[in-house]
Amino acid sequence: MSSIRFSAIQELFARQPLKVSPPAKKTSEYFGINVFDKPKMQKYLSKEAYKAVVTAMEKGTRIDRKIANQVAIGMKAWAIDQGVTHYTHWFHPLNDATAEKHDAFVDRDRDGKLFENFDGDELVQQEPDASSLPHGGIRNTFEARGYSAWDPSSPAFIVETTLCIPTIFVAYTGEALDYKTPLMRSLTALDKAAVRVCQYFDKAVTKVISTLGWEQEYFLLDEALYYARPDLILTDRTLMGHSSAKDQQLSDHYFGSIPERVASFMLDLEFECYKLGVLIKTRHNEVAPNQFECAPLFEETNLAVDHNQLLMEIMRKVARRHKFRVLFHEKPYKGINGSGKHNNWSMATDTGVNLLAPGKNPKSNMQFLTFLVNTVKAVHQHADLLRASIVSHGNVHRLGAHEAPPAIISTFLGTQLSRMLDEIEEKVTDRKMTPDEKTDLKLDIGKIPEILLDNTDRNRTSPFAFTGNRFEFRAVGSSANCGSPMITLNTVVANQLRLFADEVDALVDAGIKKDEAILQVLRRYIVESKSVRFEGDGYSHEWVEEAARRGLSNVRDVPEALQALLQPESIAVFEENEVLSRREIEARYNIRLEIFISKVQIESRVLGDLAINHIIPTAIRYQAMLVESVRGIKEIFSEAEATELTASRMDRIREIGNHLNFIKAKVNEMVEARKVANAKEDILERANDYSKAIFPFLDLIRYHIDKLELIVDDQMWPLPKYREMLFAR
Ligand code: ADP
Ligand code: MG
Repeated sequence: MSSIRFSAIQELFARQPLKVSPPAKKTSEYFGINVFDKPKMQKYLSKEAYKAVVTAMEKGTRIDRKIANQVAIGMKAWAIDQGVTHYTHWFHPLNDATAEKHDAFVDRDRDGKLFENFDGDELVQQEPDASSLPHGGIRNTFEARGYSAWDPSSPAFIVETTLCIPTIFVAYTGEALDYKTPLMRSLTALDKAAVRVCQYFDKAVTKVISTLGWEQEYFLLDEALYYARPDLILTDRTLMGHSSAKDQQLSDHYFGSIPERVASFMLDLEFECYKLGVLIKTRHNEVAPNQFECAPLFEETNLAVDHNQLLMEIMRKVARRHKFRVLFHEKPYKGINGSGKHNNWSMATDTGVNLLAPGKNPKSNMQFLTFLVNTVKAVHQHADLLRASIVSHGNVHRLGAHEAPPAIISTFLGTQLSRMLDEIEEKVTDRKMTPDEKTDLKLDIGKIPEILLDNTDRNRTSPFAFTGNRFEFRAVGSSANCGSPMITLNTVVANQLRLFADEVDALVDAGIKKDEAILQVLRRYIVESKSVRFEGDGYSHEWVEEAARRGLSNVRDVPEALQALLQPESIAVFEENEVLSRREIEARYNIRLEIFISKVQIESRVLGDLAINHIIPTAIRYQAMLVESVRGIKEIFSEAEATELTASRMDRIREIGNHLNFIKAKVNEMVEARKVANAKEDILERANDYSKAIFPFLDLIRYHIDKLELIVDDQMWPLPKYREMLFAR
């Protein structure tokens, strides 16, 4: 009986760590060997082509067809030298995956002779059919064409024998069907707005980029146990499973020594990452058993987003090599911590200044405060949009569950900075400041220490915490594409900086001195955005109440949170900054509702099937054993004695019967609720049904299954238990 579970455990006992031997070179010597980076371009491209690509990378200029041909020839030559046979346009459609369709380099000439071919046209643009990728209504079938187009700002790379070319993915009308297109547009908007603001402080700044350093949390699970859990295979999370007597109570996993099998997986992963130019810097155990984290050095945001997508792909492959499965789901196990993807974000100038790092003098500190306050103002203004950028069916399990920031968007600044903002609020007035007042304030501003990285003053419960030289957006889900939050954040900050510059310019035109104008506008922003600043414990119940008093929204429901996308001010901020059009936003809204519906639907089906095919039969078998034993006792003992001896068994039989009845009834009700929902034409009504009328069944049914898990003979239980999955390594 229950052979799958026990043979999985046996397999696990026999596992040996895969020995991984490091390349015989220093990391710096093989870092990026599979990336078509500048040194390789220099070697394989003509001077003219090299220059064109570098300018395109740095300035976003276009590359004409003739040059593209030259680049394609060089890229192909390099790839073939590395034993590559195929190429693919590599893009991020809106289902949080990466997409690729491989084509071989070979072609046939007119005489039927084979030759290796790859020209500029194939490099620059492709028309993958890809009609099954999410499009949210943008592509009707008769205009189903979608194009992928080369993004020279993210270098091509080789995975095994395929040359991967990072591309955007758009409909034939030019509308975005991916994350990269609007991400690049948001970077352009931020660049433009931020440079304009930098000009108040430093005329030398001509370009501002956004920087991103993500931290990726994940779980590992032995492959044999994974295969014995249909819920994990089909939904990426466990839909049932009683909590383990011990899990994370003792915090003995967090930062503990890394188990040998896992360490060898990590080593292997890092080699693969380094070859692809992904600079993984840290690795450690996370809070939950079998939960881990890795983080790279930060990079320009477009590249960092690509690298995170690439990392997840590599992790899946390397994990298999080590007989693990990597779980990216935000909440694979109930009752213990789930996983997030912290997005550390800042802005940097081409003069080498991090705009969210305090500087050495009052002037650079004024610049720092300007970017800081504008970011806080943008977060205050567009909190709902930021939430919409991270909300997903997986992530709702985490948000507000005392392990991750709540669904209330707030920012944490730390004591020193909060005091500084209070001071500006107190001292700056709309009348002209006296020279003494000015000097006084400037002195204080100059006193912000150059490095604010004081670890004692860090708040790990804030969804958007300032951490000394960057903001850390901590509410992002572990399986999400970082592009989504980054598009929104860049856009709302770009928008805010633009409004700021308009206001300052207007005051200057009215005869107010520039530095005073800046202070006056900042002061007003500080006052207006005060309610979004929170320094206390974001996981506490008091904060939920306090936030409600402050009028901050707290929306955990996915369809409801997504409504933010359709608000007029949201559409305006995306349209005015030329990041997304109304049609593109509506398409995204539809796609995300559709994904939400599908996910709940799949979970509900899987749970129903498992309940009926795995759990109920097992419990009935165990119940029948009890019945048999009661009958036996009755045969050999007197009636009075038998009644006494079987009392607890009889209770058990009843208890099991009650659970079984409940499970059966609720599964039936859930199926009926699905029928009602599926018949609804309107997508929002359908999503609301799935959220409010179907999703709650999952927990109701699970509760009774988990009770049965504690009652039924361990030998009979068909699914690997939490204690096995959490501690197997
Ligand atoms: P912690 O867990 O304490 O937050 P980690 O070292 O795990 O710290 O992660 C910090 C992340 O922040 C790293 O990816 C790091 O490169 C990134 N980071 C540091 N400075 C910046 C910056 N200016 N812009 C973006 N990311 C940054
Ligand atoms: Mg962090």
